[in-house]
Amino acid sequence: ANIYGEQRRNSRGVNLADHLVVEPLGDAMDTAAGQHWHAAPIIGGKSLKGEGDPILNPADRRQQVGRVTWTTPEQADEAITMASRAAAEWSATTAEERATCLDRMADLMESHMAELMALCVREAGKGVPDAVAEVREAVDFCRYYAQRARLDFGTPMPLPGPTGEKNEIALHGRGVFVCISPWNFPLAIFTGQVTAALAAGNTVVAKPAEQTSLIGTRAAELLLEAGIPPEALQLLPGGGDIGGRLVADERINGVAFTGSVATARRINQTLSQRQGPIIPLIAETGGQNAMIADSTALPEQLVRDVLISSFQSAGQRCSALRVLYLQEDVADHVLHMLNGAMQELTVGDPAWLATDVGPVIDPEARDGLMRHVEAMKRSARLVGETPLGPDTEHGTFVAPVAFEINGIDDLDDEHFGPILHVVRYKAGELDRVVDAINNTRYGLTLGVHSRIDAVAERVAQRARVGNLYVNRNQIGAVVGVQPFGGEGLSGTGPKAGGPRYLHRFATERAVTVDT
Ligand code: NAD
Repeated sequence: ANIYGEQRRNSRGVNLADHLVVEPLGDAMDTAAGQHWHAAPIIGGKSLKGEGDPILNPADRRQQVGRVTWTTPEQADEAITMASRAAAEWSATTAEERATCLDRMADLMESHMAELMALCVREAGKGVPDAVAEVREAVDFCRYYAQRARLDFGTPMPLPGPTGEKNEIALHGRGVFVCISPWNFPLAIFTGQVTAALAAGNTVVAKPAEQTSLIGTRAAELLLEAGIPPEALQLLPGGGDIGGRLVADERINGVAFTGSVATARRINQTLSQRQGPIIPLIAETGGQNAMIADSTALPEQLVRDVLISSFQSAGQRCSALRVLYLQEDVADHVLHMLNGAMQELTVGDPAWLATDVGPVIDPEARDGLMRHVEAMKRSARLVGETPLGPDTEHGTFVAPVAFEINGIDDLDDEHFGPILHVVRYKAGELDRVVDAINNTRYGLTLGVHSRIDAVAERVAQRARVGNLYVNRNQIGAVVGVQPFGGEGLSGTGPKAGGPRYLHRFATERAVTVDT
């Protein structure tokens, strides 16, 4: 056990290099994709399917993946009513009962791996390796939060007291938690938020991102199958209108949100204006993530880690690298190698194992990114651009591209796609570079490539970021191993997949008994 008393192994990987593994998995994914997926509100365990709207495959928008029936405002109110009524009973369950449901959910997701992967590929445009990682992360969240619930919510903590007095403190659910998740980790973040809230003893009203309603719906169905009582979990597919309605409701007791800074601000405003109790907002938001590479960095390793950090998942990770600071002595050499490597990436259908970069989520995302690319082409130096692969004309693809700019403050905002910006800096300017990165007021991930320990230590001491990675890529935080989340504009904490995450979902009660 580690110092937090945790004894647990993360989920096992899938060897995508072994055809004896890949072929049956591929067949199972194809079979799963043949079924009719339909997202719909689930209220009190009842699925309220109507005819619904089509959901299209971002890699080929001629293909319909499934349908979605959106939540009506009346249904949203009904869901909160049901969750409020069930709150007392669910919070009175033991941590062990709740943790057992989460462990069963982890097992269920593993047994539905092929279907969940097929959904991640087809609804969210995830590559196959990303889809494996997505399911594994969701499984890890379940087992990790189950274990944390057993450790922290199992028995009250005894406290000292004068003779004749017994004092103890215990964690309890707050009531109804609203969980609002983004499309870019449609299974992992959805499952992580919901299972954390449930494990801490809250009932949940969950709203997945509108773009990935099918995945959210399947995850909710599996949670109910795992034993979460139908009154304790309500699932509401919908957009910002339904999300806004949920957070404005006076009957809710907490909000867990992951998404953009703009939406987090809007939710914060709504919460501050509503009557009723003052409730916590757990917000995990965007980043303007940088990497600093000095002249001692190993160029091959650096280029590999830049490619992974910037372009894997088509750059649609909150942790993704946006601005690479290169020491000028090595910049030309590294950029030459980077351009060469970018020519070798394959952009195309994420269902193919050979694909490196799949589509971005939807036409709106593609158009916004392309506007930024066009503006950059007018004002910055093009460093490299990957050619689009064949069969990309019916999907929402954006080719990986890199531009040289003067500084991180040239960028107005987070550009959530495969676009890298490069800045040269001079030896001796390390502190100035870190300060410029801090000045964005984001603070999510930061990479350092250097063979000088003192450089990494100096950056670690000065940089205001949640997750710092030295001599490796800066994406793919592992549950319980690299607890994830930022500071400043990037979020409120606590860290997802960390030992204190569940505490923010709970309230503490002290009991004193005079004996
Ligand atoms: P988004 O803010 O547009 O949407 C996120 C969720 O909020 C969706 O479910 C959406 O329907 C809902 N929403 C929209 N308006 C709302 C409102 N007024 N009230 C309540 N809910 C509302 O973000 P997105 O485009 O889905 O996700 C991408 C963003 O998420 C990026 O900025 C990325 O950096 C961030 N992100 C952060 C983390 C992290 O852990 N820090 C992880 C993944 C993604």
